This record gives sequence, C-alpha cells and structure tokens, in this order.
Amino acid sequence: MSEKTPVVRGLRDIYPGESERFDMVEQSMIEIIRKYGYQEIRLPMLEAIDLFSRGLGEATDAVEKEMYTLEDRDHDVLALRPEGTASCVRAVIDRNMTREGKPRLWYAGPMFRYERPQKGRYRQFYQIGAEAFGLEGPDVDAELIFMGHDMWKMLGLESAVELEMNTIGSGDSRRAYSEALVKYLNPRKKELDVDSERRLTTNPMRILDSKNSSTQKLLESAPDLHDFIDSASRTHFEGVCEYLDREGINFRVNPRLVRGLDYYTDTVFEWVTDKLGSQGTICAGGRYDGLVERLGGPSVPAAGFAAGLDRVVLLHETLGMNADESAADVYVIVMESRHEAYARRLAQFMRTETSLRIRQHLGGGKVGVQMRQADRSGARWAVIVGDDEVAENRVALKWLREETEQESLDFEQLATCLNRAVESH
Ligand code: ATP
Ligand code: MG
Repeated sequence: MSEKTPVVRGLRDIYPGESERFDMVEQSMIEIIRKYGYQEIRLPMLEAIDLFSRGLGEATDAVEKEMYTLEDRDHDVLALRPEGTASCVRAVIDRNMTREGKPRLWYAGPMFRYERPQKGRYRQFYQIGAEAFGLEGPDVDAELIFMGHDMWKMLGLESAVELEMNTIGSGDSRRAYSEALVKYLNPRKKELDVDSERRLTTNPMRILDSKNSSTQKLLESAPDLHDFIDSASRTHFEGVCEYLDREGINFRVNPRLVRGLDYYTDTVFEWVTDKLGSQGTICAGGRYDGLVERLGGPSVPAAGFAAGLDRVVLLHETLGMNADESAADVYVIVMESRHEAYARRLAQFMRTETSLRIRQHLGGGKVGVQMRQADRSGARWAVIVGDDEVAENRVALKWLREETEQESLDFEQLATCLNRAVESH
C-alpha cells in the first residue's frame, strides 16, 4: 500500500455534512449584501507582494509573519492574498471606477495566512467582504454595520454577538498618539510582552490590542487615544453612533479596539461573540480613507468590512442552529435494471417540474439496499419504479419521514404533490 498524503497543516477539507451549513450561511450573508445593492467583484487569489506590504503596512502581522509568498517562473514575487480589501482597491483603481461613481462592492473567497492553527483560526479561511468607495459621511459606516446586523438576525445568531466600536481618528491624530504612547512605554519597556516590545518600534498602536495581562495593566495609565482625536473625527464618530441608536442597535465603545491592519482611519468596529473562545471576532471593519491614494489612486474615502465565514459557521453550529445536511430530497428506486431508462426519464421530469434535488439510484442491487441508501441520503421521499408503474406510466411515492401509505400517482399528480409539500414546508 502507498502512503497517504495528509492535508496540509492549518488547511482543511469541508466535507458533506458540513459543507451544507457552510453554503447556507454563505448564501444568506451574500443575499443580505445584495439586498443593499452591492455588486460582486471577483478578485484573484495571487497578487504582487508589494500590494500587501504597501497596502496593509510592513509592520502588520499579516505581512510580517503570516504571508504565503512565492516566486513564479518569471521571478515575480507573488503572495497568496491574506485579505480582500487591498485587491479590491487595486481593482477599483485599475478601472478608475471612482471617477464615474461611488462603487459599492462585495467579494467572497479564501484568504491565506500562516498562523498558528486552532479552532476558528486556519491557514486558509474564508471571508465575505463589502467595500464602499467615495462616501465620506457616517451614513455608510452605519450601513455596513446594518448589513452585519441583518446577517446575524437572518441566521439566528443575534443574541450571541455584540458590536464593539471605536474611532482611531485621522492619520495625524494617530501619529501624535503613537508618539505619546511610545514616550510613555519606552521607560517601561521591560514590563512589556515580547511582541509588544517589538511593536514599540514598528507599530506602537497595536500594543493596545495585546492580550497579555501585564501589558494591559501597564496600559491602564497610558495616554488615552481619545484625547488625541480631533473634532472632525469626533463628530464623525458621534454621527455613526446616532445612526445606530436610531435603529436600536446596541454597541459598546471599546477604546482599546485598534484593528490589525494599518489602513484604518476613524471608525473601526468588530462583531464579537463569547461562544468561540479567543477566536471571538466574527466580522471586522471600518473606514480606510487613505488607502486608495496610498495604492496609487485618487484621494477617495472608503469603508468596509470582512466577515470570517468559518467562524460564523462555527457559531451557527455551536448555537445548535439547524442546517439541512441531506444529499437529496427525492431518491429514485428501480425494482429491476430494465426500469432504468424509465427512472431516468422520471428523475429528469422531477428536476424540471420541481425545485427538488433528485438522486437516482445507480449501481443496481436489491430494493432493500436501495431503500437504505434512500434513507441515508436524507431524502424525504422515495419514488419507486417497477413493472406495474412502467406499464401504467405511473410511480409509487413513499414518504420516508412520515407515517403514510405508499401512493400510486401519475407524473402530473406526482409533480403537484411534491410542489404542494414544498410550498407548505
Ligand atoms: P484576529 O484578531 O482574530 O487574528 P484579524 O484582525 O487578523 O483577526 P481581519 O484581518 O480583520 O482579522 O479579518 C476579518 C475577519 O476574518 C476576522 O474577524 C475573522 O473573523 C476572520 N479571520 C481572520 N483571520 C482568520 C483565520 N486565520 N482563520 C479564520 N478566520 C479568520
Ligand atoms: Mg490576525
């Protein structure tokens, strides 16, 4: 026997039984975004490495420690995308999309980060993101949050998630604050955790985000970011909060919330849950007014979010929410192999006349065996074909999950019966 090749560490297969929930959650989230009039953009998974080092910032975890890079045969250095915003901005700039309008876009797909794998943290994970360009007011920040709110509501996750908000102000305020923070922390360097000490020179504001308790203790008497926020940013943030209040969306202002990527300005937010341990952020976003210009485009404001699909699915499952894991709705059984052509015609009829998923039994075998497979497929109905049925152009319908007699129906009656059952389900 040959050796098996295991799946790469941190990567995983999403098998039937899980993929149904994954798909259902993904489609629900996309449906909400589409309902807000956002348009899909399909982006490549490989980009020139500079896009991320320039876009996200050299000293961010995603670029510094987590990027998958490769050199292609032309010696171009590429990276598997760690997130979608930078690509989306690049694409918007390439087409000069902001000259004509104010595009609102969404994307979905896998992202790659070389992280320490654990529950809710993978090296290939899936995001669904939305980005809005050319809008500077608080209304769009609020709209992006409404979308998240609608998603959690639709999926039944509402009671398990909370919204955390903060403003990190303009680039100038952040620079001034960073300096003050460094000045405060430098003499106390020895009390910092290793990562935070390194960030003191590379990305000081990220220290606020540290999970280390002694670092957090030290931060208690550090300068307060909010004292550095200018009045325009304050007004903007108050505007966002007013929109949320008006819609009755609860939130908590978390002054330590800074987000991991460099490009954010003003509003930042995270949807968090306490049901998934330390991987509790299921969706994160904010405003990134400087990014389009930084990547070579015009000076255009923008805001967006990315939801972590893997974690939303995990939460959905953890809360015991239902997901249909069946393979098919109807299983077509043939008494003898000579009935196969008839069965195929019948299956095709149901595929066109109903919205149901029809699995035709293949590979022969006794009726009992076929029945067991029908049951295992999760189907609600078995449709059975034998000599009598073929002779009379009828079928035998059996409800697999309810106590009813087997019925004999013609094709039209069958379609009516199935469609009626679907409608009332
Ligand atoms: P974290 O603090 O958990 O590392 P992040 O700040 O790096 O998250 P973002 O870059 O803002 O995350 O990505 C948005 C969302 O994508 C996260 O809130 C999370 O739900 C999801 N996400 C990020 N990294 C991973 C990962 N390695 N595995 C699964 N989901 C992830
Ligand atoms: Mg991260």
